[in-house]
Amino acid sequence: MTGPVFAREDPAVTKFRDDLVEWLAANLTAEVLEAERAVSAGEDHLDVLKAWNARLAEAGWAAPSWPERYGGRDADVQQQLAYLEEMSRAGAPGPINTIGVSNIAPAIMAVGSEEQKERFLRPMLCGDEVWSQGMSEPDAGSDLASLRTSARPDGDTFVVNGQKTWNSMGSHADWCQLYVRTDPAAPKHKGISCLLVDMTTPGITVRPLRTMAGGYLFAELFFDDVRVPCSALLGELNEGWRVAVTTLSHERAGVARLYLSLSTTFDELLGAARSRGPITNPLHRDRLARLYAAIACIRYSTSRELAKIEQGGQPSATMGGLAKLSWARAAQEMAELAMSILGPEALTGPWAKNLAMSPSMSIAGGTSDINRNIVGEHGLGLPR
Ligand SMILES: Cc1cc2nc3c(=O)[nH]c(=O)nc-3n(C[C@H](O)[C@H](O)[C@H](O)COP(=O)(O)OP(=O)(O)OC[C@H]3O[C@@H](n4cnc5c(N)ncnc54)[C@H](O)[C@@H]3O)c2cc1C
Repeated sequence: MTGPVFAREDPAVTKFRDDLVEWLAANLTAEVLEAERAVSAGEDHLDVLKAWNARLAEAGWAAPSWPERYGGRDADVQQQLAYLEEMSRAGAPGPINTIGVSNIAPAIMAVGSEEQKERFLRPMLCGDEVWSQGMSEPDAGSDLASLRTSARPDGDTFVVNGQKTWNSMGSHADWCQLYVRTDPAAPKHKGISCLLVDMTTPGITVRPLRTMAGGYLFAELFFDDVRVPCSALLGELNEGWRVAVTTLSHERAGVARLYLSLSTTFDELLGAARSRGPITNPLHRDRLARLYAAIACIRYSTSRELAKIEQGGQPSATMGGLAKLSWARAAQEMAELAMSILGPEALTGPWAKNLAMSPSMSIAGGTSDINRNIVGEHGLGLPR
């Protein structure tokens, strides 16, 4: 992958891109790249990735789409695309608070109080404070609105009881964006609120969960009569659903991320395969060609969506669902194909990590079935 992929170059975008490329050349070390690619990426490498995050933030490269007052660069869509392209090309990790920066911060910016914005956004961006997002429960995943963790108002506190699970970064998080039921009598979408919870509060138990990729960054969380101050409420009481669906108003190029990550990994796979000699196995050639075509389709549908966004349109749920669905399918095929082509040597290192992570790709952030529902109902107008 060379040159612009989606970004339309003009002098301002070229300057923005050149500045980033120059900065990456001077700052992105082999140690950081190794930490990002390591099989057990996580606790063993958290210090390296945190230090990298701090450097990114200091230079204004942690989240350029963010407003300048919170540490971003007010980057426009073309600059955001140039940023994603160069970070992906360099294999550079972004901020450690992936969910924080892309999901929690926009909600704080949209509905948080001034105190919450001042208190939380910069430490989140710099990686000084680690955030997790507490949505899923043992009986509430795809159907998030059936969550049962409760928060009962009591004086100037909420008393929280319940359990969350599949909490990314949960075992190291300092803060949790926690979704709780505050009105059990209301219809299920209407009785939910969102709290910003200090994870050192008494009554919270964090139980790390080990993933197939070997890391312990995942956790389940238990809340037993946890007293959270009312000032922790994000947005209005019982308006948590609205907080959960708050989308990124300033980050408008995010749809390009999935294609860029796939295309970089595909290039790596092709490079690794070719380094072993000509690819003569017809099955491998066939699967590589199919994968290339699937990834190209993602590229063209991403371009179409970006053109719509540039003309003032909103990112669509259908495209989001379709992109996630096709990305998961292609990424899983790529993980398996790498094993088939590279053989036992791929059982260690980044390809092994890729394979171990791949089943989660059709689950995390909305399962493929749910995305099919979204495409069917919103895109094709099929009955529920
Ligand atoms: C790597 C990873 C990271 C995650 N990080 C977080 C996190 O940080 N915070 C957090 O809160 N959660 C997180 N999750 C949890 C994730 O959001 C849920 O796993 C996901 O929403 C699915 O919920 P579930 O596991 O309860 O499965 P269920 O919702 O119980 O689904 C079980 C099966 O039924 C299917 N299904 C369910 N409903 C329908 C339907 N209406 N139509 C068709 N099929 C359906 C699903 O597709 C699935 O195959 C993470 C998960 C993973 C894998």
